[in-house]
Amino acid sequence: MGSDVLEVTLLGTGSPIFVPGRFSTSTLIRAGDEYLLVDCGRGAGIRLHETGLHPGRINKLFLTHLHSDHVVGIPDFYISGWFTTFGRREGPLRVWGPEGTTAMMSNMDRTFEFDERVRASEMQIHHNANESHDIEPGVVFDEAGVRVTAFYVDHRPIHPALGFKVEYAGRSMILSGDTRPTDSIVEHGTGADLMIHEVICGNRENSPDPDQFERIIAHHTTPQQAGTIFNKARPRLAVYSHVILVAGVTVATLEAQTRETYDGPLLIGEDLTRITVGDEITVEHLR
Ligand SMILES: [Zn+2]
Repeated sequence: MGSDVLEVTLLGTGSPIFVPGRFSTSTLIRAGDEYLLVDCGRGAGIRLHETGLHPGRINKLFLTHLHSDHVVGIPDFYISGWFTTFGRREGPLRVWGPEGTTAMMSNMDRTFEFDERVRASEMQIHHNANESHDIEPGVVFDEAGVRVTAFYVDHRPIHPALGFKVEYAGRSMILSGDTRPTDSIVEHGTGADLMIHEVICGNRENSPDPDQFERIIAHHTTPQQAGTIFNKARPRLAVYSHVILVAGVTVATLEAQTRETYDGPLLIGEDLTRITVGDEITVEHLR
C-alpha cells in the first residue's frame, strides 16, 4: 500500500441485535503506518484476527459514545493485546471518547483486577494500562500526519455522542457514529472521500415491539434521511455501517429506500469489507 493511502476495514457493521454475520460496531482505519480503531463492539478482536492483524498492534481507540454495542468488545481487545501471541502491545492503550470514557476504562481495570494480578505473577504479563481522555468537539488527535476531529451528533437522549472526521494525506473520511439526521454530518462531511453513516430500516408494523421501535428509530437515521444527507454532502463514496435491519427487512429494501433520495455511489457495508481510498476507491471483501 502506498503510504499516502487511507484504508478502512469495517470490522463490525451491526447493532446490539445478535446476527452472526454482523457483529456490533467497530471500524479499523489505516493511515500510512498508523492504525486507529473507532468503536469496539462485539467481536472486534475476532474480526481483527480475521484481517491478520494482532490487537496488540493497535494502541489508539476512539469512541463515538458509550452505548454497549460500541464498547462491549473493549475488554477482549484491551486485555488480549498484551499477550505475546497477539502482538504484545507496547505502552498503554490510548483511548479518546466522550465524557464518561475515563471512568469506564478505570472501572474496567477494576473489573479485571483478578486477571491482571494472576497473569502478572504467573505469566509476567502486565495489562490494564490505558491512557484515556474525555474529549470535547475539536481536533483530538494530530500525529504523524493523521488528524482526527470530533464533532457532536444528535443521538439524544444519549448525550454526548460524537462523530469523527479523519484526515490523512489530502484524503478524508467521516464516521457518523449513532445519530438522527444532523447538520453537523453535512457540515464536516461535504467533499469527504468517504462518508460512513449509520442507518435503521424497518417499520412499525413488522416490528416485534412497535412502541420500542418508535423510541429507537427516533434517535437513528432512516434510509431516506441518510440519502438526503449523502445527496447534500456528495462524498466520493457513501457507506452504510451500523446497519439495523428490523425484523426481516432486507438489504434490497435498504438500498431501494436510499435510492428514493440519493443517486450517487453507495456501498452497504458488511463485516470485513475493506475500502481503500486513493486516486481510485477500491472495495474488497475479506470474508
Ligand atoms: Zn447508540
